[in-house]
Amino acid sequence: VWQHVLEHIRRSITEVEFHTWFERIRPLGIRDGVLELAVPTSFALDWIRRHYAGLIQEALGLLGAQAPRFELRVVPGVVVQEDIFQAAPAEAPRPKLNPKYTFENFVVGPNNSMAHAAAVAVAESPGRAYNPLFIYGGVGLGKTHLMHAVGHSVAKRFPHLKIEYVSTETFTNELINAIREDRMTEFRERYRSVDLLLVDDVQFIAGKERTQEEFFHTFNALYEAHKQIILSSDRPPKDILTLEARLRSRFEWGLITDIQPPDLETRIAILKMNAEQRGLRIPEDALEYIARQVTSNIRELEGALMRAIAFASLNGVELTRAVAAKALSDIFAPRELEADPLEIIRKVADHFGLKPEELTGSGRKKEVVLPRQLAMYLVRELTRASLPEIGQLFGGRDHTTVLYAIQKVQELAESDREVQGLLRTLREACT
Ligand code: ADP
Ligand code: MG
Repeated sequence: VWQHVLEHIRRSITEVEFHTWFERIRPLGIRDGVLELAVPTSFALDWIRRHYAGLIQEALGLLGAQAPRFELRVVPGVVVQEDIFQAAPAEAPRPKLNPKYTFENFVVGPNNSMAHAAAVAVAESPGRAYNPLFIYGGVGLGKTHLMHAVGHSVAKRFPHLKIEYVSTETFTNELINAIREDRMTEFRERYRSVDLLLVDDVQFIAGKERTQEEFFHTFNALYEAHKQIILSSDRPPKDILTLEARLRSRFEWGLITDIQPPDLETRIAILKMNAEQRGLRIPEDALEYIARQVTSNIRELEGALMRAIAFASLNGVELTRAVAAKALSDIFAPRELEADPLEIIRKVADHFGLKPEELTGSGRKKEVVLPRQLAMYLVRELTRASLPEIGQLFGGRDHTTVLYAIQKVQELAESDREVQGLLRTLREACT
């Protein structure tokens, strides 16, 4: 049991955290339905209880362990390296790469084989294969995953190389801060001294003149020094409007490759790999059922699988095709009553004490940004309005802005309970 729990935990935290805190825990046994775990010091006990209790609990729950509860005990005998527990948890010296986004975890299908091959080639000889490598494709199709995979692979193969991963949003924000705080030299130094620069979602650079200007110089400096640059975007360079011609042409200097939505077989393969990693065996027809429900976004595909797994485990049944159908019925059943977009905007505005015009207007105050994003998200979820139509509803915004808002809310909803609750309340109010 503990081995499975560990596997689950390993996938949820960084390598360093795992190594520091979990490799030294020993299962003592199960007593009265309580799993007893030995930790080496009271410091470790305290730390684990404060930071990881929820995670352990969740893992026990998900795996349907016989002992759904656990208890930590200090057993000094298992002390291995006391000093490790005295220091603050070590920070990975490596860039912020998601440990799950590796080549090993990337399922190759006809939809992404070109992008995958290009990424592998770049990882093998950074700066020499294709520079820049430009990967484009829709939301949730694996662009970020591939970029991180190159990062991991390069880090392993060439440990001395400096790797930087940055979203275009972060790049922009850091630039703005650097300008404000008069730290431009530092900013330039930081980005121009890397060997591998991964820039995610570069479509968001559109219309930001100063960011484009600065990025242009960063790009040139790196390119001339034969440093590798990888860019991702939701569309090819030629379709990024208001992108300076000189940047566009640079984006097109290397290799442009796309990722398409996965076909059914690839989707099933992705689900299968996911299930195996969780140590779960799920009947093929159940996986196929899930794979048929979600066709164009792998993140949502994985979400559907998670939902089905949780549903089965909560009900103490095996995850069969019928159970999967039941678990997903409320998300994928055809909606009978379609909500009215204007009504949604009104309800959301109401909830936050705002006027509907503030949500659809152009104000960027903090108090309206999240409500606006939530409203866009709900219109998308509860009506059949397309992204451009939603953009129209919200004062003629571009559909990429809408897409960004929706992604943002999705991200928040994954990590932030408060946002989850908000969504639930608003959804109820709107339907
Ligand atoms: P994007 O950056 O294109 O929006 P991500 O890279 O964030 O998409 O991928 C979304 C999710 O789907 C991630 O959890 C990622 O691991 C997973 N994913 C995407 N493509 C694949 C693939 N080919 N094999 C396995 N998992 C994938
Ligand atoms: Mg991404």
